[in-house]
Amino acid sequence: MKKPVCIAVTGASGGISSSLLFRLAAGEMLGLDQPIILQLVEVPQAMASLSGLALELEDCALPLLQDIRTFDNPEQGFAAADYAILIGARPRGAGMERNDLLTANAQIFERQGKALNDYANPDVRVLVVGNPANTNALIASRNAPNLNPKQFSALTRLDHNRAKGLVAKHLGVNAEAVENVIIWGNHSSTQYPDLNQAQVKGESVLKQIDETYYHDELIPRIQQRGSEIIKARGHSSAASAAQAIIDHMHDWALGTQNDDIVSMATYSDGSYGIEKGLFYSFPMRCQNGICEIEQGLSLSDFSKERMRLTQNELLEEKASVNHLLPRFKQVVDPLSVRGEGF
Ligand code: NAD
Repeated sequence: MKKPVCIAVTGASGGISSSLLFRLAAGEMLGLDQPIILQLVEVPQAMASLSGLALELEDCALPLLQDIRTFDNPEQGFAAADYAILIGARPRGAGMERNDLLTANAQIFERQGKALNDYANPDVRVLVVGNPANTNALIASRNAPNLNPKQFSALTRLDHNRAKGLVAKHLGVNAEAVENVIIWGNHSSTQYPDLNQAQVKGESVLKQIDETYYHDELIPRIQQRGSEIIKARGHSSAASAAQAIIDHMHDWALGTQNDDIVSMATYSDGSYGIEKGLFYSFPMRCQNGICEIEQGLSLSDFSKERMRLTQNELLEEKASVNHLLPRFKQVVDPLSVRGEGF
């Protein structure tokens, strides 16, 4: 029997977690031979509801679930965490401007970054889901000076899966047959869903769909899919977000499948001319617990322009929280990014 690993989840009694936690506990993220301990973090006012969820998890009598611990603060909740899934975030309230939302969340992710730095396992892998996810990942990472920024990521796998699903439906194939779609940039409506590398059963997707349909219908549909879901069900995506979280963490820990490219928002090292230090969604491959940006893809002028637009949005988000970003970050790391000033 393997040693249990500890997975911390914030926003643990919210909509996404209500789908996610049972699947984590059943072994869908790390495999059916990996025991886990869940450390569930909520705000104090949600602890009663969280305790109910913990009771239900117990009642599943799942063989891999070794312990369930609940906390109302990230410092205890992240103690010795091997994985941290940061879902809890402040939703946009009535009368709140975009900058107010960024600042409110910046404070949450500043504290959580510090708590990860001080209390988590030094090899912790962090996935930020709470929006604005890319910028929240930037803030958490910058507040964790002892952790490598490559230990942080933000979720764009939902957008990636949406692109696969919509292409598959259009071409009348199963989603599994669609490979190498790419989401570039921000998890927002400026993201660029890029099908230039995408294939179905070895055939280029762009040779099978009309360019006007791709540019004028498919790209906006993927970009606006979150709003489409909210309009249809009255709530934001929950089960599909949980699936994307499992896919993202599974691939990070256990490797990408069948040589497929996946999309993850990760620390930009300047690849493809994207500003270094932003958390930007790139095409990635993962092996042996390490994810690398896929290099050497040729980019059309259309792609470059779309990638620049979504980068600009991330630069604007960064500018509005800049006062909360520590100026320098000392990186202690095996992965070659050392002591950089941003
Ligand atoms: P929800 O409102 O149902 O649940 C959020 C939970 O987070 C609540 O229970 C709340 O009490 C908790 N919370 C708030 N602040 C917290 C904090 N500081 N510490 C711990 N817990 C805290 O929302 P949801 O549907 O679960 O979505 C959560 C977030 O994920 C939202 O920001 C949403 O926009 C985002 N999201 C991102 C993606 C993506 O692809 N990146 C997809 C879907 C949703």
